[in-house]
Amino acid sequence: MPTKTLDTPIQYVKGVGPKLAKIFARLGVFSVEDLLYLVPREWEDRRNIKPIIQVRPAFFDVAKGEIMKIEDQPTRSRVHILKVYLNDRTATLQAVWFNQPFLKRLFKRGMKLIVSGKVEFSAYDHVMQISVRDFEIDTGDNLKIMPRYPMTEGLYPKKLRSVVKTVLDNYLSGIADERVRQALLALHQPEEMESIARARDFLAYEELFLFQLGLLLRRKEYKEELKGRKFDVSQEARAEFASLLPFRFTPAQERVLEDIYKDLQGGRPMNRLLQGDVGSGKTIVAVAAAWLAVRNGYQAAILAPTEILAQQHYNKLLDLFRDTKLKVDLLTATTSSDKKRAELLEADLIIGTHALIEEKVKYRDLALVVIDEQHRFGVHQRAQLISKGVTPHVLVMTATPIPRSLALTLYGDLDRSIIDELPPGRMPVKTYYVPRNKRSDAYEFIRLKVKEGRQVFFVCPLVEESSELDLKAAVEEAERLQKDIFPELKVGLLHGRLKSAEKERVMKNFLERKIDILVSTTVIEVGIDVANATVMVVEHAERFGLSQLHQLRGRIGRGAEQSYCFLVGEPKSEEARARMKAMIETGDGFKIAEADLRLRGPGEMLGVRQSGLPNFRVADIIRDEKILQAARVAALELIGKDPEDAHNRWESQRSKIENSKKKLESSALN
Ligand code: ADP
Ligand code: MG
Repeated sequence: MPTKTLDTPIQYVKGVGPKLAKIFARLGVFSVEDLLYLVPREWEDRRNIKPIIQVRPAFFDVAKGEIMKIEDQPTRSRVHILKVYLNDRTATLQAVWFNQPFLKRLFKRGMKLIVSGKVEFSAYDHVMQISVRDFEIDTGDNLKIMPRYPMTEGLYPKKLRSVVKTVLDNYLSGIADERVRQALLALHQPEEMESIARARDFLAYEELFLFQLGLLLRRKEYKEELKGRKFDVSQEARAEFASLLPFRFTPAQERVLEDIYKDLQGGRPMNRLLQGDVGSGKTIVAVAAAWLAVRNGYQAAILAPTEILAQQHYNKLLDLFRDTKLKVDLLTATTSSDKKRAELLEADLIIGTHALIEEKVKYRDLALVVIDEQHRFGVHQRAQLISKGVTPHVLVMTATPIPRSLALTLYGDLDRSIIDELPPGRMPVKTYYVPRNKRSDAYEFIRLKVKEGRQVFFVCPLVEESSELDLKAAVEEAERLQKDIFPELKVGLLHGRLKSAEKERVMKNFLERKIDILVSTTVIEVGIDVANATVMVVEHAERFGLSQLHQLRGRIGRGAEQSYCFLVGEPKSEEARARMKAMIETGDGFKIAEADLRLRGPGEMLGVRQSGLPNFRVADIIRDEKILQAARVAALELIGKDPEDAHNRWESQRSKIENSKKKLESSALN
């Protein structure tokens, strides 16, 4: 018999078993401790349930009464409806269940029920009706505050509550901290509504505190303990680099470069986040740092999220360093030959995709690592690339101007620099919403612009990397545009499934203006830089998230010409309309990110599942922003006052986190 520790698998709790354990896994509950931290969504106050006569239509309400009548109503459609009339001497309420015919056997006339769910007025039966989400037989002693947990198929609220009770009774003592025990009790078995919020905030604080402690300890390690290579940042080297550029750095770029130079000569590894809106000129700043690494005799690497972007960086850098001795090389999944890999040892500056971090890839002396569009990678990749060098300097770049609370969570261990202005002469892109039946107006406009010598992006959604349907739509759109709409123009097609050589050829043709209109999936979303492209049409714009639309639109408006973006679509939901509106109203990445966060929440906003955002059990980094700030300050204080205590607390937490991560991974395999 397993002992009663917090890491007892949930399966072994009385009344659970292997079948239910699988369902618990869907809620992220593997152990007893996980269940203790499964925070209810809401709480129903059943102590003062109002009389039925006062029940009104509501998204959610609770009522109770005695069963007067049971109607089993098989309808002609396949839905089975069970209607139970409840009365409490003030009025009658009709409770309905869909497709649960077996419940009929449970109910008897005269039985007292508590029901909760959505309340509407049934015009059909002319009575107030509640669609039951949860019910219970009223035993007199369950008229208290009832927690409501996240729902999942196959696990009824009542069952979940009874397992929680078993776990509280048998395992809660395993939690060492008295305050945490109290808080958990206050959430699962609240005595009063008032203490719930306090308990939740306390647990969120504890969680965020430990998380920030981890980040800040790592940052301290970088700043005080790890050795970094000391670069010589001479005036001469800087001037030499500046002389290669066709433009001058903006003041914002200069400022950020100063931060970076300071890091590079300090003797500790740089660990810095560079934020800047799309088109603000991050690449060249990173390249300036790479130049210094090479001048100091080391290698530097730039990691890009897509092959197309890596190729573009590579071409631009080849060109930039044409007259210097610096050797640029490219490494992607398709440059796999061993010979090529051997050449890497010779190269000074290596551009590449994920291939850069493969185990086989060896570097001569990698001293600086740049990660472009970090939000496209997981934290994992950051760590892997870093492991390729002896604590190399790291510069992480992102265009997603995430709000502060998110930044503190994702990048709380990094120093931060921001490019907050665009290069001179940029005009804001004019953005319009175009209903699908008005598309031809946009086509006429495009014809005009192409005549003036401009180029055009047509973006088709490819929501899932593997969606054949979407891919087909893009291919067909390209054919349609070429044949039916723009027979006199040259239409090209670009998507992720093309062979690398083909992608490269298409991009090259577009750059050389051999293609007027480039139909593309979202592979162009990040990084692509073609200044002569000034018009973008986004098809099915309602299918894109806001941040993604902003990134896409960032592909135009990169030169001195006025640029135009047409969002074609049929936004059906309120939310989709809000997205279109935000895009039309502002070009400010920060405002867009905030709107996106409001509309979709952090996980979705960052786009990828592996965004590196930790799964907090209680905390919600948006809602708990204030708590987060306080936790960070407190963590900083503790590290200052008692670093040893800080270390110990974090260590004990870390092993726990790693354990549960392993469990998650192994369960994902099953
Ligand atoms: P992002 O920050 O989105 O990665 P890029 O680095 O691709 O932006 O830069 C966008 C464009 O602006 C590039 O063509 C780049 O050469 C150009 N650029 C960068 N800095 C300057 C500058 N100071 N003055 C003029 N153009 C610049
Ligand atoms: Mg970029």
